[in-house]
Amino acid sequence: MKPSETKVAFVGLGLMGLPMAKNLLKSGYAVAGFDLNKEVATKFADDKAFTFAASPAEAVKGADVTILMLPDSKIIDALLWGANGSPALADGLAKGSFLIDMSSSSPISSKENKQKLEQLGIHFVDAPVSGGVKKAIDGSLAIIVGGKKEHYDETLSLLECMGKNITHVGDAGAAHAVKALNNYVSAAGLIATCEALNAAKAFGLDPHVVNQVFNASTGRNNTTENKVENFMLNDAFNSGFALALMRKDIQIALSFIEGMNCYANLAKQCFATAKEADEKLGKGADHTAVFDYVRTQKK
Ligand code: NAD
Repeated sequence: MKPSETKVAFVGLGLMGLPMAKNLLKSGYAVAGFDLNKEVATKFADDKAFTFAASPAEAVKGADVTILMLPDSKIIDALLWGANGSPALADGLAKGSFLIDMSSSSPISSKENKQKLEQLGIHFVDAPVSGGVKKAIDGSLAIIVGGKKEHYDETLSLLECMGKNITHVGDAGAAHAVKALNNYVSAAGLIATCEALNAAKAFGLDPHVVNQVFNASTGRNNTTENKVENFMLNDAFNSGFALALMRKDIQIALSFIEGMNCYANLAKQCFATAKEADEKLGKGADHTAVFDYVRTQKK
């Protein structure tokens, strides 16, 4: 997909979508963006090849590729197929164009969307990302791709502008399944680390030292390596990944594991903790604030 010959529409310019769209612009793609938050347009003031569209339908006009980076499948399905009188975005997508859903969506919804879009002559690719805001900014996200192999091959050069570690894992929906499972494993590590450090502190131990020991031992994980010192023990709780999104991801993973008739005991517990913490900490809480939730709970 040559930048000079490919028009990109980008819907969802939040914490992740904004730097991802910026990296496409840096690589020479023309981008028409849309977000419900109109203020985001000011962040592109210096980008000549960017236009902020008045609506999602306007953004996708003439687009060869439409990228979605939205919170969840409920929002995506409403946008694509219309809800409460709003028009269906799918009606405005060009035949032969690509719809790449880079959000962390439900694999079941993605499989359905692929089938419906295919009937309209639109190619569906699911390409969720891992790595957070920092890696979105420096273009080094891990990208998991689902969809037909030829569609993966065709979109790879465009995806490479946003990520480094790009893996095709199967047909449409497969990437969203793998992403949800990854985030469940990551969340389990986070919750376990919160509980362990809280108990260590109650025993009179220095949690900084305990975490150092974890990092030199088998308890090491993404939370112990990247989150404990940067966002948790300093009470910053500002990693840029919302607790509500983590809760959604665990819920997708739990439904998926149960849907496969597989054992899901720990996934159920993780979901219960994420749900309780999300309800207690309220809108806007960062996922690292689970540590704050855990330390204020009584046994
Ligand atoms: P965010 O809340 O910062 O951004 C979402 C954006 O979508 C917001 O700007 C919002 O205004 C916009 N939006 C919502 N509904 C809309 C609609 N109907 N039309 C147009 N715009 C709409 O979220 P984020 O952190 O950027 O996450 C986006 C996706 O990426 C989520 O699925 C999340 O799970 C996933 N993700 C996030 C991270 C992270 O570290 N933040 C990492 C990997 C994956």
